[in-house]
Amino acid sequence: MSFLITESDQLLPIMIGAERRLGRGDESQTLYPATQEVVARLRAPSLDDVNEAIEAADHAFRTSGWAQRKPHERAHVLFRVAQLIRERAEPLAQRQRLDNGKPISETRALVASAAGTFQYFGSALETMEEELTPSRGAYFTMSVHEPMGVVAAITPWNSPIASEAQKLAPALAAGCAVVVKPAEVTPLMALELAAICEEAGVPRGMISVLPGRGSVIGDAITRHPLVRRVSFTGGTSTGKHIARIAADKMMPVSMELGGKSATMVLEDADIDHAVNGVLYGIFSSSGESCIAGSRLFVARSRYDEFMDRLAEKAQALRVGDPSDERTQMGPLITPRHRESIERYVATGLAEGGRLRTGGKRPEGSGLDKGNYYLPTIIEGLTNRATISQEEIFGPVLVAMPFDSEDDLLAQANDSIYALAAGIWTGDYRKAWRIGRAVQAGTVWINTYKQFSISTPFGGWRDSGLGREKGRLGIQQYMEQKSMYWGT
Ligand code: NAD
Repeated sequence: MSFLITESDQLLPIMIGAERRLGRGDESQTLYPATQEVVARLRAPSLDDVNEAIEAADHAFRTSGWAQRKPHERAHVLFRVAQLIRERAEPLAQRQRLDNGKPISETRALVASAAGTFQYFGSALETMEEELTPSRGAYFTMSVHEPMGVVAAITPWNSPIASEAQKLAPALAAGCAVVVKPAEVTPLMALELAAICEEAGVPRGMISVLPGRGSVIGDAITRHPLVRRVSFTGGTSTGKHIARIAADKMMPVSMELGGKSATMVLEDADIDHAVNGVLYGIFSSSGESCIAGSRLFVARSRYDEFMDRLAEKAQALRVGDPSDERTQMGPLITPRHRESIERYVATGLAEGGRLRTGGKRPEGSGLDKGNYYLPTIIEGLTNRATISQEEIFGPVLVAMPFDSEDDLLAQANDSIYALAAGIWTGDYRKAWRIGRAVQAGTVWINTYKQFSISTPFGGWRDSGLGREKGRLGIQQYMEQKSMYWGT
């Protein structure tokens, strides 16, 4: 069953255990952020639906035989998911564009990344081995991993399909049943992906997709006693709320949370290369990215030159229709989110910031209906200003000069967040020194926002807990068991 063909005047079924039916909760609709047209309408699950889905997941986990299949057999299904995503890449990318308004060039990349994620975890699963420790006296020991059972994947709206793939692929590889709770405003790609997983051979009931309000549906999923782990991506305050509930259940969680990442341009950087990288780091995805390089530090001796070039290029970015291949920045997710960004910009200016560029909605035909906002650069503030400290999650860059390496590191590390950082320099020793001293889960050197599924990703401090991706990603969804064998 594909959800791609659904017309916007029909209510979209959701996936409750093995059933494909309308939820019994409130009706909601998803809007295309570029025009506010209705893309899909659905009925959210009720709390009874949530319980039904989790009980069905538990039943499927125990009876479907998925967890008992040999690793290479589960891997084969994951490879098939990757293949189906690739075969449908274009309709999926178009659907995601409608779902969250990202430019088509970006949604194509996200769909490709989802396929790569399934491919990678299939391969990782095939090569996973248990550990045997040779005899110590009268016994030898064996360390095995067992799937946790029912796990939950709670995801945000900014990178649908990629976020869900990063949780579904390792959880299914581990043998778990998964209850997915996508963001209210972007439920479509999770439904598509789950349908593809079933078509590829994941038994019915192993995946449920429960779109709906986080504070109701997400909360009920988190509290349910049969849910053994929550893998969460979203805002820090939501993450802390979930972690508190998890503490009472002694339930492991992984948290991919907010960021306020520093990009640092040193005196000896290749300026053209750095300008392009900084621009991409903050303005791709309209800045709606956890790893957006939203604080910029430039060596004072190069500051004016760098900022002139950066501002010129920011002004030249093509903001507009996400379906146009040449578009570099699409609309923001909702009118409400744009208002929050406008409030942040006003706060920055009230605290003494100066607008270098942007700071308003673009003018132009067709742009008035979408939630567009211009790439914005603000100068003249310190790292302690509100907009230097709080995550804006939009196309707003705060730029500051720095005087020395110590000064740079003190400012870059002065944040509750510690998700990512970027360093632009021609001197690998400086890159090493600063790269080791900066507090962040990921550090890019002379590049930014590059990803590899085999490289663990996650944040420190308020940016998160645990790591996604990488070979060990599968073991997050498993409990370790040590077995002693007597002779
Ligand atoms: P959000 O925290 O509002 O929502 C994320 C998800 O949690 C949604 O599905 C939502 O419905 C659900 N939710 C909300 N309240 C809940 C509750 N009480 N219990 C359970 N679930 C609940 O975040 P958002 O606005 O959708 O996304 C933006 C945030 O996500 C930003 O802070 C961004 O930095 C972060 N993010 C982090 C990463 C990362 O990998 N570190 C990636 C993408 C986005």
